[in-house]
Amino acid sequence: MDPLVEKQEEMVQAAILYPLECYLFGEDPDVFLEKLQQSGTSQLCGKVFKGGETTYSCRDCAVDPTCVLCMDCFQNSIHKNHRYKMHSSTGGGFCDCGDTEAWKAGPLCTKHEPGASGSAKENSGCQLNEEIMEHSRRVFPSVIKYIVDMLVWEEEKELPPELVIREKVDSYYCVLFNDEHHSYDHVIYSLQRALGCELGEAQLHTTAIDKEGRRAVKAGHYASCQEVKEEIKRHSENVSQRPLHVEVLHADVMAHQKFALRLGSWLNKLMSYSSDFRQIFCQICLKEEAGSEKPCFISKLMLWDAKLHKGARKVLHELIFSSFFMEMEYKKLFAVEFVKYYKALQKEYISDDHDRVLSVTALSVQMFTVPTLARHLIEEQNVITTITETLLEVLPEYLDKNDKFNFQGYSQDKLNRVYAVIYDLRYVLVSKPTLWTDRLRARFLEGFVSFLRILTCMQGMEEIKRQIGQHIEVDPDWEAAIAIQMQLKNILLMFQEWCACDEELLLKAYSECHKAVIRCSTNGRSREKTVFHLCGHTLESRPYRVSADPVSIHLPLSRTLAGLHVRLSKTGTISRLHEFVSPEEFQVELLVEYPLRCLVLVAQVVAEMWRRNGLSLISQVFYYQDVKCREEMYDKDIIMLQIGASLMDPNQFLLLILQRYELAEAFKKLKPTKDQDLIKQYNVLIEEMLQILIYVVGERYVPGVSNVTKEDVIMREIIHLLCIEPMAHSAITKSLPENENYETGLENVIDKVATFKKPGVSGHGVYELKDECLKEFNMFFYHYTKTQHSKAEHTQKKRRKQENRDEALPPPPPPDFSPAFSNVVRILNCDVMMHILRTILQRAVELETHLWTEAMIQMVLHLLSLGLLEEKQQLQKSPEEEVTFDFYHKATRMGSSALNAVSVLTLLEKLKRVPQLEAQKDTVGWILQMFDTVKRLREKSSLTTVAATSGSEATKVDETQSTQDKEKAERKRKAEAARLHRQKIMAQMSALQRNFIETHKLLYENTLEAQGKEDAVMEEESISSAIDYSKIALGPKRGPSVAEKEVLTCILCQEEQEVKLESAAMVLSACVQKSTALTQNRSRILEHSGDTLDPLFMHPDLPCGTHTGSCGHVMHAACWQKYFEAMQLNFRQRLHVEQIFDLENGEYLCPLCKSLCNTVIPIVPLQPQKINSEDAEAVAQILSLARWLEIIIARISGYSVKNAKGEKQNLPAFTNKGIGNSALEFNSILSFGVQSSAKYSNSIKEMLILFATTIYRVGLKVAPNEADYRIPMMTWSTCAFTIQCIENLLETEGKPLFGSLQNRQHSGLKALVQFAAAQRTTSPQVLIQKHLIRLLGVLLPNFKVEDTPSLLEVDMFHILVGLVLSFPSLYWEDAVDLQPSSISSAYNHLYLFHLMTLAHITQIVVSSATESPTAQPYENSEEAHSAQAFCREVCQYTSGCFSQDIPGWLVWDCVKKGIMPYLRCAALFFHYMLGVSPPEDLLQVSEEGQFKALCSYLSLPTNLFLLFQEYRDTVNPLLQRWCADPMVLSCLKGKSIAVRYPRKRNSLIELPEDYSCLLNQASQFRCPRSSDDEQKHPVLCLFCGAMLCSQNTCCQELVNGEELGACTSHALQCGAGVCMFLKIRECKVVLIEGKTRGCLYPAPYLDEYGETDPGLKRGNPLHLCRERYRKLHLLWQQHCIIEEIARSQETNQIFFGFNWQLL
Ligand SMILES: [Zn+2]
Ligand SMILES: [Zn+2]
Ligand SMILES: [Zn+2]
Ligand SMILES: [Zn+2]
Ligand SMILES: [Zn+2]
Ligand SMILES: [Zn+2]
Ligand SMILES: [Zn+2]
Repeated sequence: MDPLVEKQEEMVQAAILYPLECYLFGEDPDVFLEKLQQSGTSQLCGKVFKGGETTYSCRDCAVDPTCVLCMDCFQNSIHKNHRYKMHSSTGGGFCDCGDTEAWKAGPLCTKHEPGASGSAKENSGCQLNEEIMEHSRRVFPSVIKYIVDMLVWEEEKELPPELVIREKVDSYYCVLFNDEHHSYDHVIYSLQRALGCELGEAQLHTTAIDKEGRRAVKAGHYASCQEVKEEIKRHSENVSQRPLHVEVLHADVMAHQKFALRLGSWLNKLMSYSSDFRQIFCQICLKEEAGSEKPCFISKLMLWDAKLHKGARKVLHELIFSSFFMEMEYKKLFAVEFVKYYKALQKEYISDDHDRVLSVTALSVQMFTVPTLARHLIEEQNVITTITETLLEVLPEYLDKNDKFNFQGYSQDKLNRVYAVIYDLRYVLVSKPTLWTDRLRARFLEGFVSFLRILTCMQGMEEIKRQIGQHIEVDPDWEAAIAIQMQLKNILLMFQEWCACDEELLLKAYSECHKAVIRCSTNGRSREKTVFHLCGHTLESRPYRVSADPVSIHLPLSRTLAGLHVRLSKTGTISRLHEFVSPEEFQVELLVEYPLRCLVLVAQVVAEMWRRNGLSLISQVFYYQDVKCREEMYDKDIIMLQIGASLMDPNQFLLLILQRYELAEAFKKLKPTKDQDLIKQYNVLIEEMLQILIYVVGERYVPGVSNVTKEDVIMREIIHLLCIEPMAHSAITKSLPENENYETGLENVIDKVATFKKPGVSGHGVYELKDECLKEFNMFFYHYTKTQHSKAEHTQKKRRKQENRDEALPPPPPPDFSPAFSNVVRILNCDVMMHILRTILQRAVELETHLWTEAMIQMVLHLLSLGLLEEKQQLQKSPEEEVTFDFYHKATRMGSSALNAVSVLTLLEKLKRVPQLEAQKDTVGWILQMFDTVKRLREKSSLTTVAATSGSEATKVDETQSTQDKEKAERKRKAEAARLHRQKIMAQMSALQRNFIETHKLLYENTLEAQGKEDAVMEEESISSAIDYSKIALGPKRGPSVAEKEVLTCILCQEEQEVKLESAAMVLSACVQKSTALTQNRSRILEHSGDTLDPLFMHPDLPCGTHTGSCGHVMHAACWQKYFEAMQLNFRQRLHVEQIFDLENGEYLCPLCKSLCNTVIPIVPLQPQKINSEDAEAVAQILSLARWLEIIIARISGYSVKNAKGEKQNLPAFTNKGIGNSALEFNSILSFGVQSSAKYSNSIKEMLILFATTIYRVGLKVAPNEADYRIPMMTWSTCAFTIQCIENLLETEGKPLFGSLQNRQHSGLKALVQFAAAQRTTSPQVLIQKHLIRLLGVLLPNFKVEDTPSLLEVDMFHILVGLVLSFPSLYWEDAVDLQPSSISSAYNHLYLFHLMTLAHITQIVVSSATESPTAQPYENSEEAHSAQAFCREVCQYTSGCFSQDIPGWLVWDCVKKGIMPYLRCAALFFHYMLGVSPPEDLLQVSEEGQFKALCSYLSLPTNLFLLFQEYRDTVNPLLQRWCADPMVLSCLKGKSIAVRYPRKRNSLIELPEDYSCLLNQASQFRCPRSSDDEQKHPVLCLFCGAMLCSQNTCCQELVNGEELGACTSHALQCGAGVCMFLKIRECKVVLIEGKTRGCLYPAPYLDEYGETDPGLKRGNPLHLCRERYRKLHLLWQQHCIIEEIARSQETNQIFFGFNWQLL
């Protein structure tokens, strides 16, 4: 904290607060408050949420979704095991734990339960004694009055006289206030200009302003402050719409205001201790001055809220939370005050310049959603009317001359503030009352009527007119109107639900709504009615054309009426409707008119008649039918048509439809026209109309329209969604409408209709429709979009085809209409309908191709099916003579007019033969069959009714039974036919095949034979080689290299080339990166730059290595160079394009797979070598280890002699012999066989240098330098490290050492090892020798080389690789370029390896063999004995520091386990270098077999200690020196710690199974650098588990002069620049590389539907998915993070804008 602020705080405490508390409590405040705390606290939790904090809600128990719990309460509540939701708070809400009205069950967590936390008291009630209460009553009023007086302040106001303590001095502040209009940069700019200050100071001010809400930016005399004020205003006005808010305040006033707020916080603290304090406080706040109209204290503050600065508002709101909202009684009184001033408050808010969370109006949700409180406010305060009137008062600025809304040119921000008021309506209505009083009914109805006034302003708003001729110039604003529709959707539904609670209310509401609709339906009344005739029916109506007259898509009144109508029908109250609306008043045609126009508009838009009206109309039509709006738009319009169809004469109804669709002419005798566009337009309109007719008759899944439940409705929606394709849970949820509780009802029914299929490691789980639900499929489901419709049709037809069934998709039998709607079906069999159907069929049959479409026919067939189904259902239910529905009769009768002389049935028969309708054949067949069924039902029932009425039921059942049987039989027959057909084809095919073999018999047999022979030869060969020497890699028994000639294809030019030493180079794309994947010690500080680093020795911690990976794609070096240069050129020309990769650093994307690469590996062919076993035997006789050592030492010292020109170097002889015959000994190394060095082509050499330089540059982070002495070291190092990484990966994946590598890994490793062997030839041999001598220094302590690390400070495998690769440099001669022969190499490798192994065993024993606590059975094996013997020696050489008491078997066990990774790495290394095939056992996973096979492959005895015995004389002196090293001794004495073997295998940190645990952790997280409570973004490093504070200036770090965010700077340390984080609050994984790159990746947490939840948007409980986490682990260990980032950046270009550096 600022020291000045700290001091002020101390002074306030000492001078004022402490004495005040002493007076209040009558004793030491600390003691008293401690006592009070002990005696228990409130049952309400009341924790106020900060932005970003996680809140929990329970879908099972919360009364509404605004009821939330804090993390603590949730974890201690029963809801933890319910269907909870978790979300990030936007700040400002509070925990509802303890509020019995908020929860249907479990309102209290265990912490807030009475009796919990050790307190026996039930209620926090009255522990305060009378004296303290008395004191409080005296102190609080003054404090509160002081706060109010100081905060409610206007610039000109004077301090009250009692506060003026001295002469008024001319000391003022210029105070700048925060707002939401001006950006940071605006404020900084204005300040810099106005104050003439530095950027830093301006930034400081701005940050403080944003945090506190205001800041004194200038102190001084009044005039100077005024001047600055004007300056700031002027400058800020220049850069934005309005000036900044600045005030000049007297210094004393500032001081008092500050103190007033401090007192506010003090009160806030007191409130938490006792209910008595709260009550006294509330009483005083609510007290009104007697006889005065002035508002009470709290209301004063509320009304002043919008004028307060941010900091003051926060204190004030917290005080309200901690006092009023913790006492139910006072919450109610507060709510009353709140509603009293509601209008004023909302208006203040609408013109306020702060976010809603900072407004007192945001408290409404806390009161309005409490059911009893809401009811009270409706009854007593008439809150619904208050809210709607507020809306009516703020909305008029949007009204046009007709008193309809028009939002053209609206301000989004302002309208958003209006939505807040609409939201309040939603809160008040969220819980339906169970008990209705007369008063409640009256008040609600009053509110409803008032609400209808708003709807009246919307009914018909934003009318549009079809644009003819020119396209409109500007697309009108449509978003605002649609947004209001969305906001209103659930409110409309809630009003309807409330109305439906009570019969009386429903009828009254209906009548009011009806009146309102009729009032709005006046336009066009002036026009004269016209008459329309068709089929002998006439319709009289006023002319209106959608295509020419204005039309609106907004009809909330009509739709509310439709909603109320179905509720009337559902409750049966409809029978009393005439009491409220007389039939004359009803005017059904008028009610239908507007919704019908709207549907016609949609049809005309589809027919492209409104093309010229632009995109805005398309968007409106989209939302009209979209799930977000359709319930209160499209769906209700369909219902309104159904109401019309049920109440109007069916023929008249259809005539009206025809007329409004402007199709009246189309069904009369057609005048031939050539206008193709017009014909097409007609056709689309006819299709659209038929579709609407199908919906009117067929769509009955609405409670009230038929007798279905809500569940049935949802089930049907889901079935139709899943008929398109299997879907994820979230996709289904998104396609279903949500109710006011954000529930779709999906979970209750999904398992009835679908089965869940789990996801794999990527993707998500999906639901598949159950087979038995397929029969519910209705191709013309009214919520299908056009694409969904055709997709679903396609899927279902395909499925039926696969099942060998016909392709007919008739409608499923719909549920019966409820009585109020039963008349709708009459439109199916009325004359006009028959005319329509007949006309269309006729046109198809007569092949007037341009006048009909297949879709049209499909719809006609669908309507026919509906008619027949209806008649069948009716016949099955009641006796034939009662069934008046005569569809069959009408359809089989001939038409009246000459044009339609044929019956529908006849036309249908003919339709079968229309070739264009082949696809509909099955449907036609199905319908004909239905005709038959209905006919027989008619006949049968007329027979049976004559016979016996009682038996009729049974016969009908029989009848249906028999039809069903018949259908079944038919299906069976077809299936059988299909089966036979298949069989026939199969038979034909196999016959063909036989014939082929017959004719080509000779050829066939020959090839078979040849193959067999070849196989046999191969086998023989491999057997013989296996017996001989094959699977040993080292020493005289070394097997032959299996090197096939390699012919590779360049991915760029597609040409093939054989890889040869002397040919032009081929290269493998590769990526070199630093890696900490194997580190044993993450706390080790990594060097940022390797300028001074000596990389020859790798520390056994493996802190940071250089990894080389490849995607395995091959190119010609020349082709690659061309490609790279072209890319460089390309990017230089387009400078503005941000690059995914860093060309400067040689980065590019693999041309084939787009992996990120930064270099290429030259492909050097393996040189096959074979050893003559006789020669080898001969050499074996002479070349013992001792002799071999002598020879190399002689060679080395010889070099030194030569190099130093006689000056004897300080190289003590290793053997006792001395360097007598030095000349001879110097050359004796050559006597065991040499050969000339390989000659590489220039192109290969060039690539060798290029790649080696890249490794050096990337691995050390230095500038490239081809001549640097460290280049060979880095080559060996990356070779060793990459092998170690691969070994590690194979082990953790549980795969065998050989044969299981991915192709890319295999070819990458092969190329890398061969490269590493060849690289030596491009460096000076003297340099290589120097490195070699330093490496040998570790093994042979006699070589006194400076800075040689001890045995415990090096990684042995790195040394082994270095030694083996550098060793040939000893064969270098001035004149000729020599290298060891195969036999020499075999021995060199063997001895080097054996020596390294001995050293490693010693290393393991010294560092890892300690007493193990688990007592294992004593094992008396040979190995144990040898181990024991070895230990004795070590003990002796370490002067007893090494304990001899460790049992031999334990030491053996340690060694065997510890050495395994080293042996595995060595096997990989020698295999890829020499090409000797490994033993079978290494191609499988087996613990014991593997060890033996490794020993045999590497020429080791399985009892490793035998090595010591074998080489005893030579090795003992070495062992002695190794053990005597001070470092080793210090470790043995426990003074220092060495790495233990086997080293631990790294894995990503353990994550909790339940995601809320992580959220919990994150909530405990405190930024290590700052103490403010601002929103933090905690992220978790998945490598090391560190929790960091990301995206925040507080934790940025300065690295090499650059500001880096916490993640980026952590990554440099933890992952050498590459790292993986989990953003906890967002549930996303972030991968980053370096300072500029990163990407998001789905977190490995899934909800129960197998889906991830980035951003916790859905909020379902999440659980760890192990497979996915493992995938992330592999991404890391395979070094594919960089690749993943590059790939993701390629596909998601959006992330370019993100500044990864500051993460
Ligand atoms: Zn809580
Ligand atoms: Zn609680
Ligand atoms: Zn619950
Ligand atoms: Zn090529
Ligand atoms: Zn590639
Ligand atoms: Zn880390
Ligand atoms: Zn921080």
